[in-house]
Amino acid sequence: MTTTQDADVIVVGAGPGGSSAAHHLAQSGLDVLLLEKSSFPREKVCGDGLTPRAVKSLVRLGIDTSEANGFIRNRGLRIIGGGMRLELPWPELSTYPDFGLVRPRLDFDELIVRAAQQAGARLQEATTVTGPVLDQSDRVVGVTARTADGPQTYRAPLVIAADGSSARLALSLGVQKRDDRPMGVAVRRYFTSPRTDDDMLESWLELRGSDGSLLPGYGWVFGLGILNTTNAWQKTDYKKLLKDWTGAMPEQWQFTDEHATGPVRGGALPMGFSRTPHYTRGVLLVGDAGGAVNPFNGEGIPYAMESGLLAAEHAAQALARPDGPQRELALQGYPQAMKQEYGGYYTLGRVFVTMIGNPHVMALATRHGLPRPLLMKFTLKMLANLRDPRGGDALDRVINGLARLAPAA
Ligand SMILES: Cc1cc2nc3c(=O)[nH]c(=O)nc-3n(C[C@H](O)[C@H](O)[C@H](O)COP(=O)(O)OP(=O)(O)OC[C@H]3O[C@@H](n4cnc5c(N)ncnc54)[C@H](O)[C@@H]3O)c2cc1C
Repeated sequence: MTTTQDADVIVVGAGPGGSSAAHHLAQSGLDVLLLEKSSFPREKVCGDGLTPRAVKSLVRLGIDTSEANGFIRNRGLRIIGGGMRLELPWPELSTYPDFGLVRPRLDFDELIVRAAQQAGARLQEATTVTGPVLDQSDRVVGVTARTADGPQTYRAPLVIAADGSSARLALSLGVQKRDDRPMGVAVRRYFTSPRTDDDMLESWLELRGSDGSLLPGYGWVFGLGILNTTNAWQKTDYKKLLKDWTGAMPEQWQFTDEHATGPVRGGALPMGFSRTPHYTRGVLLVGDAGGAVNPFNGEGIPYAMESGLLAAEHAAQALARPDGPQRELALQGYPQAMKQEYGGYYTLGRVFVTMIGNPHVMALATRHGLPRPLLMKFTLKMLANLRDPRGGDALDRVINGLARLAPAA
């Protein structure tokens, strides 16, 4: 085995989390090596839905979010359930824009990684990280990888693990998935549809099969999700569930096999900080690797990007200090910042998923909640985590208060 390259920070995985981290690190003047097992353009199983929260992260990276640049805009959420249909525009806030986007991950992820490269990050594709390199004190000082040129070792004082829900690097350091945190599974399929340009994201709170029977989980027009808090968790055939649901959807969507452009594919949604600690022995966990998916709505892209930024900020501050206790103190600030930013809200999310795991509660909430506009406005802000942290309206203040009171996840 040969030692080839050195860097200030190695980032493992060039999804939205890793590329955002690499971008911010490069902008801080650091030498960043971004290692990615696949080669761009590459697919990632996802619903491709971007809320205003994700838009904000894209703008922060200097990415053009206009339709001219290939994004499809949406102006809110259409919720369907309990025989009702409700359109809720994204809230008007000073912190987030009032529009969301849709873009296939096939080129969405490439857009972000190219921006990181432009900022100065060095991307190395077709490089599968196989494990950490440890010093005598068991601290991570690099990674080993499989490449086309054979096994390689890359060394750096800090490593950011953004390798997605499989979280191999964290696992190899003994950071296990937490059983006390929610887990979701989602499946999706692409179709050609005359409603591709719908300016609302559509969410179905009740899934029904072609015989009208109630199916577990809830659906987005780009796929569906189910939580480990439902009784159906272990027993469900997710691909069949998606087929049953799309088969029973209104004809105008054209969710039929002949309009499908690919197979049904699925993946895990690690939620509510299901892998902690987010910092250990020279490694910071970002995005799905740290179980950062929002338990309320299964959204993971903005949390991957935001945690990438937070990790990069703490890494840059740490590297400006001498190696030793001072640097360690700066790095310990990362899990604390994650807790402070999302901990209370994610604890509320845990309660929420336990409640909606019970179909009776879900049915009651749909029947009695949907007809109440103020309650639904509150629900949208809560589910999509869209509120002003300071100032804001009465609903923002209620959610901020609840998130502050809840013990941090
Ligand atoms: C069916 C489904 C639908 C979803 N829909 C949405 C949605 O509509 N909106 C939303 O916001 N979120 C959605 N999510 C969640 C979202 O996809 C993730 O939260 C998000 O991709 C996390 O980003 P990440 O950068 O942490 O990880 P990933 O996007 O998984 O990126 C990890 C990267 O690391 C690379 N990698 C992995 N292992 C290694 C290794 N050993 N060495 C080198 N590289 C490695 C991978 O190739 C990949 O490029 C959905 C998820 C699923 C499964």
